[in-house]
Amino acid sequence: MELWQQMIRNSVHSVDQLVEKFGIDRKVAEDLDEFFQARINPYYLSLIRYPGDPIWKQCVPDKLELEDMDGFEDPLKEDEMSPVPNITHRYPDRALFLTTSQCGMYCRFCTRKRKVGNSDKISMKELESAFNYLEQHKEIRDVILSGGDPLMLTDVMLEKILARLRKIPHIEIIRIGTKMPCVLPHRITPKLCDMIKKYHPIYVNTHFNHPWEITPESTKACEMLVNAGIPVGNQAVLMKGVNDDPEVLKELFLKLLKIRVKPYYLFMADETKGTNHFRTSIDRGIEIMDKLRGYISGLAIPYFVIDAPGGGGKIPILPQYVLHRDENRIVMRNYKNEVYVYRDVKDEYERANKISVEIIDKKNGGSKKPKNYKNIRTIKIPEYETVEN
Ligand code: SF4
Repeated sequence: MELWQQMIRNSVHSVDQLVEKFGIDRKVAEDLDEFFQARINPYYLSLIRYPGDPIWKQCVPDKLELEDMDGFEDPLKEDEMSPVPNITHRYPDRALFLTTSQCGMYCRFCTRKRKVGNSDKISMKELESAFNYLEQHKEIRDVILSGGDPLMLTDVMLEKILARLRKIPHIEIIRIGTKMPCVLPHRITPKLCDMIKKYHPIYVNTHFNHPWEITPESTKACEMLVNAGIPVGNQAVLMKGVNDDPEVLKELFLKLLKIRVKPYYLFMADETKGTNHFRTSIDRGIEIMDKLRGYISGLAIPYFVIDAPGGGGKIPILPQYVLHRDENRIVMRNYKNEVYVYRDVKDEYERANKISVEIIDKKNGGSKKPKNYKNIRTIKIPEYETVEN
């Protein structure tokens, strides 16, 4: 048995352990276990610094999970978009392929907890119909292996899946969605990397949410993947009490870049049953993004997205940078709230007559002139309110 498998065996998972280790009331622990089982492996457990810290919140069951009456089992309607077992086909040219129900840790905020935990939630017996579907649908260029966590499969089983996918000529890209580099980095072994790199182009998207998760072990795991020629991106979830703070996310994104992981998405938390206590306001998310853009490298800035409830897919959300747009120009603010005008190609009239825009600052009562045009006729844009930095 490999070290990582041994660590899975040694995870905190039983009701008795939840009561003893975390002081959870036995009845509550039993109800939580029934709702969504726990798995906290010894590595991730060792990252906890104090009760209730951002690591604890992500892995230790909380009675607040049982008080959420509003959430959905399947907020993204993945099951309705599943033409055959184990496949979700939502976007035109890519498909999600669920390969296992197991994970290195069970995250309390998981969107897919209806599929995760018990091995019967995702059946390995159904893989053949999934391969057949992928073979028949020539529009699918990109397959995302997910679950659960595909790196919970043995190297042999994962290689069987990769080899089979590589035999399908229209599949150009294979992506592996895995939280292992973060929650159990010991899974990333030289043997695994040597196997994966035979099936390029392979991309990995991993899932770090807090800078404390970037340790010597997780750094080594990500570097091994990148050194095997695998581009690694990160998908984080914005969560109250975990990372809903611009300084925390700035540190996380900059540290990810240093270990050669590109911050790819920052998600608003899904409306998943049992996760209401993790959700932040949309305004808070936008405010955080506003405090990142311009202050740190664009390379470190992920797309901030809402995965649309009901299966609409990922929709990017941006702070309001466009103050006004008409057929001749766009008026924008930058990260310092300075105003600039960019003339559209149709702007012959304005080029001849100079441009004038005045921004009325509703909040402070004054007005602003664009930095790059000073004189002139005025277009008032009274909607503008300053955003405080
Ligand atoms: S690793 Fe992913 S699928 Fe598994 S519990 Fe965590 S969020 Fe859910």
